[in-house]
Amino acid sequence: MADLTESIKNLTALFQKLPGVGKKTAERFAYHVLIAKQEDILGLSDAIREVKTNIRYCEKCFNLSVDPLCEVCRDPSRDAAQLCVVEQPRDLAALEQTGVFHGLYHVLLGRLSPTENIGPDDLTIRELEKRAASGEVREIIMATNPNMEGDATAFYITRLLHDYPVTITRLARGVTTGSVLEFVNRDILRDALEGRQNYRN
Ligand SMILES: [Zn+2]
Repeated sequence: MADLTESIKNLTALFQKLPGVGKKTAERFAYHVLIAKQEDILGLSDAIREVKTNIRYCEKCFNLSVDPLCEVCRDPSRDAAQLCVVEQPRDLAALEQTGVFHGLYHVLLGRLSPTENIGPDDLTIRELEKRAASGEVREIIMATNPNMEGDATAFYITRLLHDYPVTITRLARGVTTGSVLEFVNRDILRDALEGRQNYRN
């Protein structure tokens, strides 16, 4: 059994891996774990384990899902002719909250980033190409984040899909350049979706 100092060090190091958590906060979390009610902390640890063992990526769109196909893909009322391309499942969730879009999604699971060595094969771009080639999709809406890497990713995909019979549109610039989709307010996101423009002019 590890001693107390060692346990606190371990916990702190693990908490520090969470996004936005620095050393001080990680230490606070670690001490909190020690003094909090056992049932609360074990509940948290069970919930984390359950999510990590039961949640996977949707086979079709790469949204997070309990089943092989996610809720959106399983919904027969969704329009399979429209595909909205986002970087992450949380972007999909943000768009779903607007309630404006009734098509399907494709989650890239990231964006192209030369500085971080993330290329097309690290994303789900090949799978997107297959969907574009299937003939089922008529419009692809690029909803990558409006920053340099998001734009570069959208541009790459647009060129890649050039010869497929799909119209490619981009969210209107109601979404401020540089902003991250998941934090954008619902009305702005709705305007951006409704005012989307044709990518190729
Ligand atoms: Zn899906």
